[in-house]
Amino acid sequence: MAATPDAVVLLDGAGTPAGSESGCIHGVTWFVRQLGSALLSSLMGSDDSDPAGCLAASIAAVRSLHADTCDLSHPGSPSATVVALRERKSIIQYAVLADSVLLLSLSDGLRVVTDAREVQVGKQFRTEMDATPNGTPDHDKALRNYIEKLRAHRNRPGGFGVASAEPDAAAEALTGTVPCHQLRAAALLSDGASRLVDRFGLVTWDDALRTLATAGPSELLRQVRAAENGDLEGSRWPRGKVHDDATAAYCVDCALSALTHHESALADCVKHQPRSTSEVSAKTDNTSLP
Ligand SMILES: [Zn+2]
Repeated sequence: MAATPDAVVLLDGAGTPAGSESGCIHGVTWFVRQLGSALLSSLMGSDDSDPAGCLAASIAAVRSLHADTCDLSHPGSPSATVVALRERKSIIQYAVLADSVLLLSLSDGLRVVTDAREVQVGKQFRTEMDATPNGTPDHDKALRNYIEKLRAHRNRPGGFGVASAEPDAAAEALTGTVPCHQLRAAALLSDGASRLVDRFGLVTWDDALRTLATAGPSELLRQVRAAENGDLEGSRWPRGKVHDDATAAYCVDCALSALTHHESALADCVKHQPRSTSEVSAKTDNTSLP
């Protein structure tokens, strides 16, 4: 996650399970850093291009960095979900690619923006993974099989869009605009954070926004980890990983141009509670078990 006074991006890289090939010598962490930096830079600099256009240009730029050294046609090449939000001329523009979640608290209600296609495509491959307890060799093997089957559907007709090596994938992003005066707050959540709502069903989106507003991203992630720790074998909530990388960013008093303060969380560096009405607060928890 990274932010400037008028833009914020959240990327969630798709890990390569142990024993799987990726075709890339750099790895998903490198990919996410390169793409996130390029995207934030593009969002800041480009008045002509909307966030999806900025994303396409950024994917192309990162592709050029390793097209000569890596097999970018490999189905396991690094990929990431993307949420991008920007303020331009009192309009909030956004793009959401894959299964991270953007929550927009608007004067006329809540807008939830996320692409459910990956989850829907993945359902057909989950049976074995969900039937084996987390933390067992059988589960690890089933998770690897699940990921390898699922990734064959990335950026394919009938599959799901994700940021990888193909700039055209940006056209699959869900996009929209909101006048600044209608936006009360925005939240960006990786699927490791949104699972409290969309997988565990323990709270609603409105509840999650309230938690972010009153106690900040750290509290939301604490609730996620508490729920996970109460179900370490995945018997109540079958899932690939006991703990997934979890990031939550909360933006208030958008127009984002009014932001006077932000904190970007790069693993464990932020313990932050909102103090003013003009800030982005964020928390990342990279505690992830196989
Ligand atoms: Zn590479």
